[in-house]
Amino acid sequence: MTVSIHWFRRDLRLSDNPALSYAAKRGALLPVYILEEADAPGGATRAWLHRSLEALNAALNGALHVYRGDPAEILPRLAETHGAETLTWNRRYDARGMDCDTALKTELRTRGLNVHSANGALLWEPMDVNKADGTPYRVFSPFFRKGCAAAAPPREPLPAPSIALLDVPNDTALDDLALRPTPAWDEDVLADWTPGEAGATARLEAFLEEGLTGYKEGRDIPSAPHVSRLSPHLAFGEISPNTVWYGAKAQPASRDRDHFMSELGWREFSYNLLFHNPDMDWQNLNRKFDGFPWCDAPDLLTAWQKGQTGIPIVDAGMRELWQTGYMHNRVRMIVASFLVKNLRVHWRHGLAWFHDTLFDADPANNPASWQWVAGSGADAAPYFRIFNPVTQSAKFDAEGAYLRRYVPELARLPDKYLHAPWEAPAEVLRGAGIVLGTDYPHPIADLRESRQGALSAYDQIKGSPS
Ligand code: FAD
Repeated sequence: MTVSIHWFRRDLRLSDNPALSYAAKRGALLPVYILEEADAPGGATRAWLHRSLEALNAALNGALHVYRGDPAEILPRLAETHGAETLTWNRRYDARGMDCDTALKTELRTRGLNVHSANGALLWEPMDVNKADGTPYRVFSPFFRKGCAAAAPPREPLPAPSIALLDVPNDTALDDLALRPTPAWDEDVLADWTPGEAGATARLEAFLEEGLTGYKEGRDIPSAPHVSRLSPHLAFGEISPNTVWYGAKAQPASRDRDHFMSELGWREFSYNLLFHNPDMDWQNLNRKFDGFPWCDAPDLLTAWQKGQTGIPIVDAGMRELWQTGYMHNRVRMIVASFLVKNLRVHWRHGLAWFHDTLFDADPANNPASWQWVAGSGADAAPYFRIFNPVTQSAKFDAEGAYLRRYVPELARLPDKYLHAPWEAPAEVLRGAGIVLGTDYPHPIADLRESRQGALSAYDQIKGSPS
């Protein structure tokens, strides 16, 4: 029997895994995962990855061979040791990953191997969606409504293949990758999550049954159960976007369903941007922002990271992130806007913190979203539309369910003052048992003044070339 190696990366699943299905058809399978030294996963993603690999290994009856190091050294050695004829992987779209894969493909083909790559991560690959003149889209609506619509429909999901595992002992151990944190905070933070393919599938089913109806409006309410929370599962490829897309498409037509599918389109847009702008995790997409007068304010950054800004909705979001490894999208936009506009701290600092603390930290969605909020991104809102966190909070968490959960020290304040406790009369604060500056911080920025400061800063660059 011939031998195939499938190299798992961010495709930690058996169903709808086109490269795995190809490999499984060709012979006895050696499933491999490599923790690449060149990757620098954040703390949260390392913890998730450990659990996800555990689940994948269990689904493969303990046959997942795990390594850490350089794939260009490990894979040729494995191919030689096991006499493999075929090596497969699903494609990635970041510059380092693509360079690594291209070089490896050439090297392995020179050695006579059949190397097969497939699209297992996107509904439409970046090279298939361009404007009529061949240039990439910079605006979401035409990208999704014209570009994606004109391309071939996404592939229908494939069933999990039947796999004949290569009969060799597995002397590798997941613990050798040292992904679990010490001390083991992951027990608590992962309590509400089930990393792995089965958890992802269950999450999708629960969302389609209970969360999709009401999504269009409910997705903006951080305390409402109307978002899917599929993002970490999608980021690790525990479920394919095709499975999610066709799962939603099979539901009765509605505005909720269409809106949800268009959010998957935003994920495609981010990957398209990443492919065409490989340095977008540090380079402004709009070069006008290269001269923006950012503030160097480590104390303000720390207060933001710790959820101690004195602005309740910002603190609630930052604490949700720390406690759960996730933050609701509406609140991500609010905390990001507060950092880059009110505090004028560079978006790269926010990106780095999210990279380290989000379970769904994603090489495309994270930088594309930060730049979108900062105003330097593709299709970003006009700079002068600066979120007012108090107004946002009163609108999207009117009864304070989200605030009271994550900022419990303010729980006894009446709704009227919950969103801006500094405006509460002294007797109201006393009645709620709060001394500002002791039990809860004074705001670290004056919202009106800092908004004005941001607009003046933008005035300095608005005439520069983009
Ligand atoms: P749902 O509303 O249920 O959406 C379903 C899926 O659609 C998501 O899982 C995601 O894959 C995709 N999606 C939804 N909204 C967006 C969006 N605005 N942009 C791109 N894709 C989207 N998302 C990440 O996956 N990883 C990140 O690292 C990340 N960083 C972000 C940073 C900032 C500053 C902001 C404002 C947003 C960021 N997002 C990121 C986008 C978005 O907040 C999350 O995708 C969403 O909150 C995930 O929750 P969900 O799965 O419940 O979303």
